Amino acid sequence: MNAPAVASVPVLLDLRNDFPILQHPVKGRRLVYLDNGATTQKPAAVIEAESRYYERSNANIHRGVHWLSQHSTDLYEQGRESVRRLLNAARSEEIVFTRGTTEGINLVAHSWGRGAVGPGDEIVLTGMEHHSNIVPWQMLCEQVGASIKVVPVTDSGEIRLEDYRALLGPRTRLVGIAHVSNALGTINPVQEMTRLAHEAGAKVLVDGAQAVAHKVVDVQALDCDFYVFSGHKLYGPTGIGALYARYGILKDMPPWQGGGDMIHTVSFERSTYADVPQRFEAGTPNIAGVVGLDAAIRYVRGVGLDAIAAHEHALLEHATEQLLALPGVRLIGTAGQKAGIASFVVDGIHPHDLGTILDTEGVAIRAGHHCAMPLMARFGIPGTARASFAAYNTPDDVAALISALRKAQKLFG
Ligand code: PLP
Repeated sequence: MNAPAVASVPVLLDLRNDFPILQHPVKGRRLVYLDNGATTQKPAAVIEAESRYYERSNANIHRGVHWLSQHSTDLYEQGRESVRRLLNAARSEEIVFTRGTTEGINLVAHSWGRGAVGPGDEIVLTGMEHHSNIVPWQMLCEQVGASIKVVPVTDSGEIRLEDYRALLGPRTRLVGIAHVSNALGTINPVQEMTRLAHEAGAKVLVDGAQAVAHKVVDVQALDCDFYVFSGHKLYGPTGIGALYARYGILKDMPPWQGGGDMIHTVSFERSTYADVPQRFEAGTPNIAGVVGLDAAIRYVRGVGLDAIAAHEHALLEHATEQLLALPGVRLIGTAGQKAGIASFVVDGIHPHDLGTILDTEGVAIRAGHHCAMPLMARFGIPGTARASFAAYNTPDDVAALISALRKAQKLFG
């Protein structure tokens, strides 16, 4: 118990030096950043790519006749190809740039949903969805007279396929699934769930916000119809993300926002719309964000997603063991298949108090409901403390977390 925990954990990756922010102490202490589920830090490669873009390449895209505009357009479209490769989509037209996961889901609910979901229809969601994958569907259901069915979550934080199967029926139009739960870390059996949904004639949207930075994602293997993620959880900038949508579905979806760049012709009588994906990218997009996202994807691919997954898994196993060795600590979410998220509650200490005390020790975690209030209600708790790992975390970070937790327990003890 007193032996240095660090020694027993294989350090698979050593990336801390790639991240400028991690070189700067916070409140005079080495920053131990374990809030990666909320957003990840950015490697120098991403920061420099964005800054280089503004220094050398900035111009509006798709409309210019001058060299700089063409160059900027090329960088933007290169970013799309980068996302296509990351997700292994069949064609780049299937990639729509968005502000992030939330906007991607709203786009699908608004554009596809209004045409495909009608009165009496059903949308199936798991009980562990982030609010982003609940509220847009509620809004749609209110508008069209459809309803939501919820797959229950077990005590270990998983869903049972038989419970899920029982909810699928002839009125199911869409299944919405978190690939990885942000509050529990559970990796859901998306491939099997998609197969069952398709058998029932429903489409599938996968919320990949917590997956793309932590595991290899292949939308063709998953066979899902929509896949959404945010760049900022993948070491990229905020304000940029992507929606993958199967071409056969996307090409028939109506636009959801009107403006420049998404049209073919405009007259006061009638406008016609551009092909996909431009139809869904009205107005000047976040070009620098796409350039940064491209750099982030290159960075992650350079390190290797399998290596990142193995590294984070080792850290999670180590952290779980250490957490469970502390008195009064209970893990919320003990699924067999988990990504690098440890959610826990500590007897006698509110998660917010815990987060505040840990902060004084230089340890950044998240405390609260994690935008998953229905899931917290399911467990009968107001929230959890959550340590979420990224590729640059180390066993030292786990040791700092555990030591700060001990201090918090002493303080409240
Ligand atoms: N879905 C999941 C599973 C998430 O973890 C998050 C963010 O925490 C979101 C959706 C929303 O992502 P964003 O705020 O980047 O749109």
